Amino acid sequence: MPYSLNKKLVNLKPYDPIQGNYKIRLDANESFFNVNEILSEKVLTEIAKINLNRYPDPYAEELVKAFSDFYEIERDLITAGNGSDEIISIITSCFLEKGDTILTLSNDFSMYAFYGNLYELNVKCLEKNTDLTVDVDKLIAYCNENSVKAVIFSNPCNPTSLGICREDVLKLIQNVSSLVIVDEAYMDFWGSDFCGEESVIKNTGDYDNLIVLKTCSKAIGLAAARIGFAVSSKKNTIALKAAKSPYNTDSISQIVGKVVLSEKKILQNMRNEIIFQRDELYKGIIKLSQQFEQIEVVYNTVTNFVFIKTSFADAIFNSLLKKSIAIRKMGNYLRITAGNKAENKELLKSLEEILNNF
Ligand SMILES: *Cc1c(COP(=O)(O)O)cnc(C)c1O
Repeated sequence: MPYSLNKKLVNLKPYDPIQGNYKIRLDANESFFNVNEILSEKVLTEIAKINLNRYPDPYAEELVKAFSDFYEIERDLITAGNGSDEIISIITSCFLEKGDTILTLSNDFSMYAFYGNLYELNVKCLEKNTDLTVDVDKLIAYCNENSVKAVIFSNPCNPTSLGICREDVLKLIQNVSSLVIVDEAYMDFWGSDFCGEESVIKNTGDYDNLIVLKTCSKAIGLAAARIGFAVSSKKNTIALKAAKSPYNTDSISQIVGKVVLSEKKILQNMRNEIIFQRDELYKGIIKLSQQFEQIEVVYNTVTNFVFIKTSFADAIFNSLLKKSIAIRKMGNYLRITAGNKAENKELLKSLEEILNNF
């Protein structure tokens, strides 16, 4: 018998982000600020001191300290990862056992179900309300009636751009025995500060069934460096550190993260400008939606992107690509990351042209 791939691998396709040289990239929810412009010298000076022949610090202590100071969280509740993607992989593979039920929501971040399937979990998906909000009581009932071992969702949500209020998330945590994994990748954009009023990150010490995921890929602007964190109880944190691969965050990323997270003022200014541009983009799209019925719904946003429902998603997406503007299409929805002022202006102008030609 020739060797053949098992059934979970045989139809798996490598992750396929939009590639190519597009003039304007509004497809991946990255920050439009390149941190290097501001901090490159500091970063490079620190990187030059690294002993490249030596393994990195397995617990990324200095990076964890910078994160701990930035978000005001105890250090022994924090685990650093190679992007929060890696942390999702560690949690789904190690905190759950083969055949355990993991609950995801729809629409939500696709990686949760991806890893759940890869690790042979029983992946269930609960549909959100038609307006894409989440009925927390329904979620609680589902978890309890179906012996859900873990429930994972993004808050605020990628791709819907909507948030679930803190009170509801706490209610969920308190009323299920499932592990609740709250991916707060975009929480930095909601409220008055990084991880503001609606975050449950400060509650991680209180509940053994809560893990909060954070990333430096969005508001912190370090998507290239692959830095993510899990914040959870001391007990869970010890387990996470024991289960992860020893050198999961490299020395260069540890330095980049440490230096950048130490610059709160700069990061706050960037955050405010991103939110300002997000509002401008949102207002521009609302205006177009009043003019063109093809744009059916523009969802409220507490993230750095705008989510739109339109039956013309395909046509709009392709027409924008022809104009060298990349956004994200998901079925009858479009997700557009806030760019800088010029990028948003160009996007809105192009969108108007396209809609005018329908
Ligand atoms: C972008 C994003 C992440 C970040 O992933 P990294 O691996 O840290 O870059 C995590 N969760 C959601 C929902 C995201 O949109």
